[in-house]
Order: sequence, then structure tokens, then C-alpha cells
Amino acid sequence: MNARHPADHPVLEIDLDAIALNWRAVERAFSGTRIGAVVKRNAYGLGVERIAPWLFHLGCADFWVATLDEGVALRALLGARRARIFVLHGLGGVTPLTHAEHGLIPVLADLGELALARQLAAVRAMPLAVAVHLDTGLTRLGLDAAQVSALCQDPAAFAGLDLQAWVTQLGRFQDPNAPECIEQRTRFFEWTARLPPAERSLSTSSCVFADVRWHLDHARVGSALYGVETAPANLQGFASVATLRAPVLRVANVAAGAEVGYGGSYRLPVSATLATLAIGYGDGLPIHLGNRGSVVLAGQTVPIVGGVSMGMITADISTLPPGSVQPGDFAEIYGPNQRIHELASAVGMAPSALLVPTADRARRSYRGSSVVELRSVDAA
Ligand SMILES: *Cc1c(COP(=O)(O)O)cnc(C)c1O
Repeated sequence: MNARHPADHPVLEIDLDAIALNWRAVERAFSGTRIGAVVKRNAYGLGVERIAPWLFHLGCADFWVATLDEGVALRALLGARRARIFVLHGLGGVTPLTHAEHGLIPVLADLGELALARQLAAVRAMPLAVAVHLDTGLTRLGLDAAQVSALCQDPAAFAGLDLQAWVTQLGRFQDPNAPECIEQRTRFFEWTARLPPAERSLSTSSCVFADVRWHLDHARVGSALYGVETAPANLQGFASVATLRAPVLRVANVAAGAEVGYGGSYRLPVSATLATLAIGYGDGLPIHLGNRGSVVLAGQTVPIVGGVSMGMITADISTLPPGSVQPGDFAEIYGPNQRIHELASAVGMAPSALLVPTADRARRSYRGSSVVELRSVDAA
């Protein structure tokens, strides 16, 4: 065993070629003009320092992050390359001059931010690049109907601003055809028709693979690029990007009646062979996977039994041939044999809610012919 990388913690393998396949699938499906990659939260935990330059290399010229810090780090990664970087959380208490200084475009979150941007644009020689969030129904960020109406009456509402995009977000992205989403889209069309022209951005991953009426101008795509299905009724078969594995720490034959894990949440009805795996809630695994869901070991799907503790879970491997699993072997938590959305659905959670915390905490490694090609990005 390698002393520097003992088999006692989860590992995540990221396939850059699979990202390229998914990028092309998005390109083929999308009828609008710009495809922006969402790389917030360390590119959904996959490591923004590898993912963003790779996407740029694939032809992506628009990026979306959540925070100013993420934007500053991404600008440093991409350099002065002609890529736009949008900051979804708005100004976050700083002035838009900070964003401009780092070549970032804030997505203004309310009327106060819009007023501040206009005020600073007036004392600046150059127009200030901004996007504006419109709250069509999610009640999270953006201007509401009354505020949009008021702005439409004011010819100076956007003076000095270089409007890059109108942005809105659906409340039921997993089902764009829900009536509430259709109402949101109708509002977005009506409002943007009365506002000054700029790219309209509504599509996330699920919309790109829905009817073209969802596409509009600029898509903000995260999950699909990372191989994560977001629309259960419209699975796309994306290439698997992230594979999370956890090592086996112990294999034991246990007698009927034994309690497995804290609090005795599972008691063996019959004798069983159990494998203890090194992954738990401290690694981002949802505690709701206790006594639910499964993992893949020795090519077979086996159930999780007992609770999720900080760093361990237990799988019942009684159905496997004796001796087929040894300490140091790795179980697939998610990957090509058990997709992220499948495990997430066992506990009724959104797939990215499973991906982000687990990916971000695991030890990451990358594979794909792309690993070599990346050098040419750095030279660009
Ligand atoms: C996270 C996020 C996205 C990306 O959504 P996916 O379903 O992962 O493609 C797009 N827009 C906003 C506002 C987001 O917060």
C-alpha cells in the first residue's frame, strides 16, 4: 500500500473527456447564441482550476460563478482571455467598480444595486458592464413586477450601464413544463420586451434539453456538463464525469441479531457478510442514506445497512461470492455503474446536492486525453 495515499478515505476521479462529450451534447441541443458554463462552488466540487481552463479550451467563452471571490479566482485562472465572467450573487456589499477592476460582470440583485451601479457609471468615463436579475417567481434574487414597471417609465434607468444580460431562474428547473415555469417564462418574455435589449438568460441544463421555446439567447449550464441529470422525466444519458469511490476497511461475517451502526437502526435478521466503507457525513454523504440506497462492490449493487456515521457506512455483501471483497478494495458510491441521480433519488434529493459536498471533500484525480492537451490552453 502507498503510504502517501492510504486506502482509508474517499477518492474522486474526474474524466475530462466525458466533460468534452457533454459540452458537445449541449452545443448540439442548444439553439441560442451563447452557452455559459456554471462553475460556482469549485465547479460543483470538481476543481475549478482544472475544469474552467478545460471548458475554455473546448470553446466556452462565458462563465457563471456565485461569488466575487470565485470570480476573482476564475479571472486569475483565465487571465485576460476574452471570456465573460458573471457573478450570480450580485454586488454582495461591494461596489461594482470592484467587479469591473477584475473583469467581472455582476448580476444585480435588487433596485439598490441597480441605483448604485448607475450612480458610479455616471462618474466613470466608460460604461459599466452589468447583468440584471429578474424575479419571475422564485422569490430569491432580482427585480419584481412592480419594480420592472417603474423602470420602464424611467428613460434614465439604465444610463451609463452596458447591459449584458437579463437573468431569471425557474422554481422547478427539474420540470420546465410545469405550469409555474411556463408562467415564469411568460413574465420573462413580457418584462424583457419592455426593457432595453440584452441577451436573455433563462435556460439551465434541463431547459437546454427541453423544447426550443425554453432556450432563449444564453444558457447557464452546470449539471449537464458534469454528467448530472436534472430532469428525471427527460434523462439524456450524459457521459459519467465524476466517480466517487470509498475503500473497504473491514469485511466481517456477522451473526443474526447483531446491531449495525449507532443506535441499532439496523439489526441483522439473518447472519450476513458486511463490508465497512470509509465514507460518511463528514465526507459530504447525506445522513439520509442510512438504511437506504446502495453502493457498487465487485461489480454488484449491494445495500447500505445501518446509519451513516462521520466517516463510515456499512454495506451488506452477503450476495457476493465469499472472498470477492477484501479490505483495500474500493466501492463505487456514484459513477458509471450507479449514476449520481440514481443514488440521489434513493433519498429524494437533487443530484447536485449529493455531488457538490461529496466531490468537494474527496481527494481528486483527473483522467482523459485532455490532461495532456491542457498545456495548449496555458500557452493560448
Ligand atoms: C446553479 C445555477 C445554474 C446551473 O444550473 P444546472 O441545473 O446545474 O445547469 C444556473 N443558473 C443559476 C442562477 C444557478 O444558481
